Amino acid sequence: MVLEKSNAKHLKGIGASAGIAIGQVRITDRRRVTVTEITVGADQVPGELARLAKAIERAKGDLASLRHQLATTHGPEHLCVIDAHLMLLDDTMLVGETTQYIERLGINAEGALKRTLIRFKSFFEGVEDDYLRERGGDVETVVERVLRTMVGEKQEPISKIEGKVIVVAHDLSPADILQIDKSKVIGFITDLGGKTSHSAILARAFEVPAVVGLERITGEVADGDMIIMDGATGAVIINPDPEAFKDYLQKKQRYEYVEREMLKLRDLPSVTLDGHRMRLKGNVEFIEEIASINRHGGEGIGLYRTEMLFFNRNTLPDEEEQFEAYAALVRKMAPHPVTIRTLDVGGDKCLTDLNLSDEMNPALGVRAIRLSLRQPEAFKAQLRAILRASAFGEVRLFFPMVSGVAEVRMAKALFEEAKDELRGLFSFDEKLAVGIMIEIPSAVVIADLLAAEVDFFSVGTNDLIQYTLAIDRTNEHLSSLYEPLHPAVLRSLKMVVDAAHAAGIDACICGEMAGEPEYLPILLGLGFDELSMNAVSIPRVKKILRRCTMDAAREVADRVLTYSTAAEADAYLKGEIAARFSESFD
Ligand code: PEP
Ligand code: MG
Repeated sequence: MVLEKSNAKHLKGIGASAGIAIGQVRITDRRRVTVTEITVGADQVPGELARLAKAIERAKGDLASLRHQLATTHGPEHLCVIDAHLMLLDDTMLVGETTQYIERLGINAEGALKRTLIRFKSFFEGVEDDYLRERGGDVETVVERVLRTMVGEKQEPISKIEGKVIVVAHDLSPADILQIDKSKVIGFITDLGGKTSHSAILARAFEVPAVVGLERITGEVADGDMIIMDGATGAVIINPDPEAFKDYLQKKQRYEYVEREMLKLRDLPSVTLDGHRMRLKGNVEFIEEIASINRHGGEGIGLYRTEMLFFNRNTLPDEEEQFEAYAALVRKMAPHPVTIRTLDVGGDKCLTDLNLSDEMNPALGVRAIRLSLRQPEAFKAQLRAILRASAFGEVRLFFPMVSGVAEVRMAKALFEEAKDELRGLFSFDEKLAVGIMIEIPSAVVIADLLAAEVDFFSVGTNDLIQYTLAIDRTNEHLSSLYEPLHPAVLRSLKMVVDAAHAAGIDACICGEMAGEPEYLPILLGLGFDELSMNAVSIPRVKKILRRCTMDAAREVADRVLTYSTAAEADAYLKGEIAARFSESFD
């Protein structure tokens, strides 16, 4: 660990999962390509030359589009590395030497390129000037890019990572996060991503510190660099100086202390000072997370994302397998209820088997309930599995991405068919509550019509904000426009609660907004009955809840609705929080 000299670099990304990690970098998408040199016949030489040219063109295309993309946010000083790499790809020596190896030695293009790389590297290693010597690394990066294109090599799976490291990657998919072993990966940092992307949600679920949307972190670090990351603020320090190191070590200890203190709230009731109760539950993707919900005092599961059962496999799970999974979850969470959401794939949750990736606009495509209604047999298998699990504890069911009443009626008709198919064969809860997610603006506008059809609403603020504001929830360039306090979002929330209560049904929230303690006074004041969130947030939200009165919360909610912009609402809310609850925020 080199801490003496101060070549520290401070970067700021999006804090996606709280927690401080200090450790060594492990880059996952800059792995060396394994190349085998093979001899080819004279008749194959033109083909190899063409492969080389094609791979170089492809690598240039990739780099050029990266440059174009970065040019909107970065000045020339940041783009010069990419320019240098592009120039290297045009370098006649690099291409000329490789061409000669192919022609003279009769070897394949990747073998020839590797030989060129070795020669260039030894040349640069012999250079005295530090700056020039380091340019050898650039050549290697560029050649690796071309080689990777040529051999079509895929990224190394996260599960293969050894040691205790902070993973740095261009992007990590939900499937990658699923493979994280916390004893080896103590945090991760990515170029891409937003706070409510599914990778970020999973990171919070697993309590793995994460900073996303750093845009160029993979170009800034090397394997083995010492790095500090703060998953709450998004701060990242590469090669920290001793002072920053000490500072963050203290912050880490403080965070862990607060977390221990929060856990003490576990058994205290979720009530306001004047005795108003609000249910606080957990969102889960995996049965393993129930331990964390219990540890943090959750009163059940407000959102079980069943799609995770469908990831990372070649065949879709049948009714029996789903039943086993749901029943295990229900048994383990009992006596608390489990709210199971039917399959919600599409958007940034792609299942390759279902071939959804061809859509021009996957977020607006055949996803969630739309997909289920197109595949009624598979949908009924899921509904039967959920119904059967209700024999083991309290189960509630809800449908994602509902846009209108017709969809709800169709889904409920299939639900009735599923019940008919089970009667006499299996026991299940005949009165199982059926709800819908409110996450599409049309559902907000017709919330009164929808409320007449179902037993509860659960607002998915992640998608509701995305679709209301037309802001891609996974696009780091738009993260500043993703505004939970936008008046359109706040008015939508109010419309939903009012419509639910007018019809005598519950209004819940299971989007990420529910887990932000500073929003609690608003959500409470608007009248929400239940909030479901990542487990770590439960005691933090409870702490504020227990310091609120309903009158104060209503006052905050009423006032916040009067502002014209999210920034004004935010400034007001920050003032209120500072005045009323400052000592409750750590
Ligand atoms: C939401 O959209 O807020 C939600 C809870 O669903 P998901 O994040 O799974 O899309
Ligand atoms: Mg959603």
